[in-house]
Amino acid sequence: MSRILNFIDGELRPPVDGKYLDNVEPATGKVYSHCPDSSSADVELAVAAAAAAFPSWSTTPRTVRASFLTRIADSIESRLAEFALAESTDQGKPVSLATAVDIPRAVANFRYFAGRLAYDEDKVSRIDGVAWTYTHHQPVGVAGLISPWNLPLYLLTWKIAPAIAYGCTCVCKPSEVTPMTAFLLADVLIKVGLPKGVVNIVFGTGPGAGEPLVLHPNVPLISFTGSTTIGTRISALTSPFPKKLSLELGGKNATIVFADADLPRAAEGAVRAAFANQGEVCLCGSRVLVQSEVYDAFLALFLTHTRALTVGDPRHPSTTTGALVSRAHYDKVVSYLALAVQEGGKVVHGGRYGAEVVKGRPVMVEQREKGERRLEGGFWMEPTVVVGLGEVARCNQEEIFGPVVTILPFRTEEDALRIANGTKYGLSASVWSEDLRRAHRVAEGIRGGYVWVNCWMVRDLNAPFGGTKASGIGREGGAEWSREFYCDTKAICVAY
Ligand code: NAD
Repeated sequence: MSRILNFIDGELRPPVDGKYLDNVEPATGKVYSHCPDSSSADVELAVAAAAAAFPSWSTTPRTVRASFLTRIADSIESRLAEFALAESTDQGKPVSLATAVDIPRAVANFRYFAGRLAYDEDKVSRIDGVAWTYTHHQPVGVAGLISPWNLPLYLLTWKIAPAIAYGCTCVCKPSEVTPMTAFLLADVLIKVGLPKGVVNIVFGTGPGAGEPLVLHPNVPLISFTGSTTIGTRISALTSPFPKKLSLELGGKNATIVFADADLPRAAEGAVRAAFANQGEVCLCGSRVLVQSEVYDAFLALFLTHTRALTVGDPRHPSTTTGALVSRAHYDKVVSYLALAVQEGGKVVHGGRYGAEVVKGRPVMVEQREKGERRLEGGFWMEPTVVVGLGEVARCNQEEIFGPVVTILPFRTEEDALRIANGTKYGLSASVWSEDLRRAHRVAEGIRGGYVWVNCWMVRDLNAPFGGTKASGIGREGGAEWSREFYCDTKAICVAY
C-alpha cells in the first residue's frame, strides 16, 4: 500500500511523529494509501525551509520564475492520464472529468501566471516639477496555502502558481481527504528542479497541521479555500495578528431561468451546474429558480437531462457521476434527503443511495472478468431532484455540497433576486435569459462574486474570483488581484 510523504526543503520526508492517516478510495470505501498525519513539528520545518528560500526566490528574475512555472505545467500535462486517474481514485470523480477539467485547469493555472509575468507592469505617476512616483510589488514572504477536497489539484495550483510567480515561497496544506495529486505534484517539482524550499507540502488534518500553519508567526499570508465554518475560525484565530487573508468559502448558488430563456440550453446547463463533480463544486447551482409560466416545461427538460446521467465506476468512460468523497460527507448529504421530505419536499427523481445505486451499472471489463464487486462499499448517491420546498427551508438555505438540487418557481424578476440573494451565502449564480438587458440587470442585482449569463463555470483566469457575505473575503485571479494579494504594493517617490 502506497505511503504519501511530506515534501519539505526539496525532499520527500516522513512526518516527524511517524503518524499516518488512512486514505480511502471513495468508489470502494477501502483504504488504499496512507497520508502523513503531520504536526506542528513538520510545519515548523516547512516554514523554516520556505523562509530560507525566500530571499533568493523573491529576487530571481521574473523570466526564470516564469520558465519554472512553464516547465511544471508541461510536466503535469505530459502525465495527464496518471494525474487524472490518481485524482479520480482519490476523490471519487469520473476519470473523464479529471481528464477534461481538473488536470488541464491545473496546467492552465501555471501557464497563465507564467504568461502574466511578462506583462507585469508597474504604475508611474508624476507631480509636475516635484517628483515621479512608481509602484513596486514586493512579495509578501512565506504563503500558507490551504485547500479542500473537491477539486484537489486544481484549487491547490490556483494558489501555488500565483504565489511562486510573484516571488513568494509557500507551505501548502492540501486536504487530508484527497492528498494524492499534491504528492504527485511534489514529484513534478523535484523533476523540474524547482529550487529547494520554494514549495513545501505538509499533509495532515486541519487541527494537526492547518492551525499551526495559520498561526505561525513567519507566515504573513494565508490563502484558504474550504468551508465557511473553518474559514470563519481562521479569521478569528488570525485576528490578533497582521496577516493577509483570502477566504474562498461555501455557497448556495442559484440558477435563475427566465421564461424567455432558450429552455433546452438552460436545462442542459442547469443540470451540469447542479450535478457536476457529484454536486461537489462550490459554484454548483444547487437551487434552480424557474419562472412560473415555464416551470412545467423546464422541469420536464431538466428531468430528461438528469435521467441521462450515469452513476458508477469513476474509471468507466460512460460514467458521468462518481462517488461522494468520504463516508462522513456521504452521511451528511444523505441526512439532507430525509430533511427534504420532513420539510415537505417531494423527490421527483433519484433519492436512492448506497450499493443498490451501482448494481447493474457498467464496470470495467477486467473487474467483470474477475467477478470483482469492488464498488459495493463506495459512497454512492443518485442525482436527486427535490421540488415543493419553500425558499427558507433548510435544504434551500444550507450548503449540501452533493448531488441534491431543489427547484423553485418564481413570478417576477424581483422575486428571483430576492430568493437568489436570500441566503447567508454570496458566491455565484447563473442567469438564463434571451433578454440581454434583463440579464445585465439581474446579474448586477446578485450579491455574489461571479455571475454567468447563459453559461456556467466558464472560467476566465483574468477575472477576479471570490465570494461575498459568508462565501468569503478577498479576490484572487488575473494579474491585478493575485498580485495585490501575494505582494505588498509599495510607492517609491523620486524627487526631480
Ligand atoms: P474544510 O473547511 O473542512 O477544509 C478545507 C481545508 O482546511 C482542508 O485542508 C482542511 O484540512 C483544512 N482545515 C480544517 N480545519 C482547519 C483549521 N482549524 N485550521 C486550518 N486548516 C483547517 O472544507 P472541505 O470540506 O475540505 O471543502 C468543502 C468546502 O469548501 C465547501 O464548503 C465548499 O463550498 C468550499 N469550497 C469553496 C470554494 C471557493 O472557491 N469558494 C472552492 C471549493 C470548495
